[in-house]
Amino acid sequence: MIQITVWNENFHESTKEEIAKIYPKGIHGAIKEGLETEADFTVRTATLTDPEHGLTQEVLDNTDVLLWWGHMKHNDVADEVVERVHKRVLDGMGLIVLHSGHASKIFKKLTGAASEDLKWRETGDMEKIWLMDPSHPIADGLPELIEIEHEETYGEHFNIPAPDEIVFMSWFSGGEIFRSGCTFKRGKGKIFYFRPGHESYPIFHREDIRQVLKNAVRWAKPLHNSPSVAYGHYNFE
Ligand code: ZN
Repeated sequence: MIQITVWNENFHESTKEEIAKIYPKGIHGAIKEGLETEADFTVRTATLTDPEHGLTQEVLDNTDVLLWWGHMKHNDVADEVVERVHKRVLDGMGLIVLHSGHASKIFKKLTGAASEDLKWRETGDMEKIWLMDPSHPIADGLPELIEIEHEETYGEHFNIPAPDEIVFMSWFSGGEIFRSGCTFKRGKGKIFYFRPGHESYPIFHREDIRQVLKNAVRWAKPLHNSPSVAYGHYNFE
């Protein structure tokens, strides 16, 4: 079984009626629903207001892949918890960072991104997400183009270090482009950043988006038998 934890700050859904209508079970609930159709996935959720944000050492030790949705409350995430997640990623836990999670403490710490740096606009532009790498495991079963009728616009320049791979690239009807699916490796951990998922559109109810997340979980999960690695002063014996 692949153990998955979906983390969400759960702020918009609990404070704005119109967002709660779109996500009655929270964004985390919708993501969970999308993932748990896979027979070999076990999915739990955690939110900001849970003790230790629901990300205790025990939870993280039993998580193969962590998904992260945050927007307004990045600074309310305790540094101690960020440190704990960071260590687990370096030790092999997969991390999938969604939408405005680009500005989360954990994404910035892991990638070094100056990641508030991008253009954005909420005018309901159409988004066309083009598949840039049809050989990539995250592309499995997807069409080469995902069209989303209305989304928040993000535009380049997106101030991240060069990703290892660009799996998706978006075009918006306002003319912007954006690297919407980026992979990074840090230590033994694999990280996937995926752009769509603004709270005021029902993005995580879509089958194609759910397929991306399922594929990303399978790609990001740790190796079966992770090799042990020595760092620091080393003598050949
Ligand atoms: Zn947004």
